[in-house]
Amino acid sequence: LKTILKNVNIIKVDKKEILRGYDLCMEDGKIVDLYPSAADTVSDTYIMPAFADSHVHLICEDNLNWYLSYGVTTVYNMMGMPSHLRWQQEIRQGKRLGPEIITSGPVIDGTPAYLVSVANEASRQRLAADAAYPDVLYCNGIAVADTPEKGRKAVRYTKDAGYQFVKIYNNLEKDVYRAVCEEAEKQGILVTGHLPDSCNPDIVETSEAEVLQNVVEHITFISDELMNILMKNRSALSPTLAAEKIIFNKLTEEAFYQEALEATNPLIREQWKRSMQKHQEAAIAARPFRKYAPPKRRSLKEDYRLLKKLEELGAVLMTGTDGGLEGIIPGVSLHIEIDAMKEAGLDSWTILEALTINPEKVYGLSTGKGVIEKDAPVDFLVLKRNPAEEIEALHDIEGLYYGKQFFDKGQLLELRKKGKEKENLEFNG
Ligand SMILES: [Zn+2]
Repeated sequence: LKTILKNVNIIKVDKKEILRGYDLCMEDGKIVDLYPSAADTVSDTYIMPAFADSHVHLICEDNLNWYLSYGVTTVYNMMGMPSHLRWQQEIRQGKRLGPEIITSGPVIDGTPAYLVSVANEASRQRLAADAAYPDVLYCNGIAVADTPEKGRKAVRYTKDAGYQFVKIYNNLEKDVYRAVCEEAEKQGILVTGHLPDSCNPDIVETSEAEVLQNVVEHITFISDELMNILMKNRSALSPTLAAEKIIFNKLTEEAFYQEALEATNPLIREQWKRSMQKHQEAAIAARPFRKYAPPKRRSLKEDYRLLKKLEELGAVLMTGTDGGLEGIIPGVSLHIEIDAMKEAGLDSWTILEALTINPEKVYGLSTGKGVIEKDAPVDFLVLKRNPAEEIEALHDIEGLYYGKQFFDKGQLLELRKKGKEKENLEFNG
């Protein structure tokens, strides 16, 4: 069945231009044609590629609906577990509704394994690859590598178990970090994650600073000193300003946030509360989570300054949010990220690229997402204003065309309610 959208303005993020007054034909989830419209009125409808959140933690299946309802059709999951691979397959096969999931394997950390506080040993599911790598997984979602050989093994496990990229964490020692990055290159998969403390000039001697990974998560790890090294290595960056704003800058007191929180599934809120408690208890027990003393947390203003400077240097930026972590409401988080990037003074096109084509490019995927052209998959949003002129236009999504499906504004809102009545959600594991 052919659908024709008549007389729309197409945001070509890849070309930084707008095709005004076009007709767009879709068939079977694919764009089959686009051409200047015969209509002689000026169009006030804009269509633009749907969003990618380049840093999420899928904590339960309800998250999937929330991302879609906020215009997010691709998520990069940062702490991969077997359930994520299953959801990914089910979504691709059309058996489950949700965004395209690109997922890391278990987080590879040194010792002490920083993330142990969120680990969930009890619900451990296994993959076929577990048998071939008996000592790699520390528990679900975490691998500990305190030697280069263990690091390499964890990378091979990640690939063999079917995950798409490697996620690393703070306590990796430098020789292990090097081994992980080298092995990943050999295996043809990317390395994403926290910059290890052992390579961070804010923590160790400046001469020790090093960036080898493909993507660095969190602007907090980037200093003026590190910027040039990052640029030289051509690493991309997800600044995750939403996480900064929600966890450290009292955004939680604002009305819109409270309203969104109220609408989330109570089970998720309960889960957030529990993991916050876990963190607090761990802090009280003064458990040494970090091998090196972390630097003092800096202000959001300083993050903004550094981000603006990175934009000027031509850094490849992506919109990651840490969605799914404590209080970081999936989907809502991306809209907070958009506003924060604007507050940092970034150009609208920079933000539009970060939201759409950059993740696709960085991760070397060729799904055609992020671009509206002939033969590309149907994966775009309908807006009533031009986001290149006013980025706030992205907050008012009139509709989502996603594969063979269309969701109008009301249906997008309905998606958020879907899981709410359920007493049992499937949590990750
Ligand atoms: Zn994260």
